[in-house]
Amino acid sequence: MAPRDRTTPRHLLSGLLRCGSCGAGMSVEDHHRGRTRIRCTKATEAASCDNTRSYQLDVIEAAVAGGLRDRMVDRDGIALYVRVYNEERQALAAYSVNRRAQIEKRLQQAEREQDRIYKA
Ligand SMILES: [Zn+2]
Repeated sequence: MAPRDRTTPRHLLSGLLRCGSCGAGMSVEDHHRGRTRIRCTKATEAASCDNTRSYQLDVIEAAVAGGLRDRMVDRDGIALYVRVYNEERQALAAYSVNRRAQIEKRLQQAEREQDRIYKA
């Protein structure tokens, strides 16, 4: 699937996990023996976070799912979960759309600049 069409999260917790040290997002580091490992994005891309540890995504997902199971014992708990989850997903989607528009604008500027240089 092309990145522009990707509105569905890849994992249960895609975009929702944060680094305990710096608060940055977590991204997939690799797939090792059929398991996905995640790592702080800042530690990976900019080496600006000391938290270089890798985490097994399936362990985190199981812990979160277990915690949710314990808390969703009534309708109010389920309704709260659905509302907060959807709000967070919508916020992430809006951020992605804005970010994409910014990048496309910068790309167009760069292409115009390149055109101008080429013609000169
Ligand atoms: Zn970090």
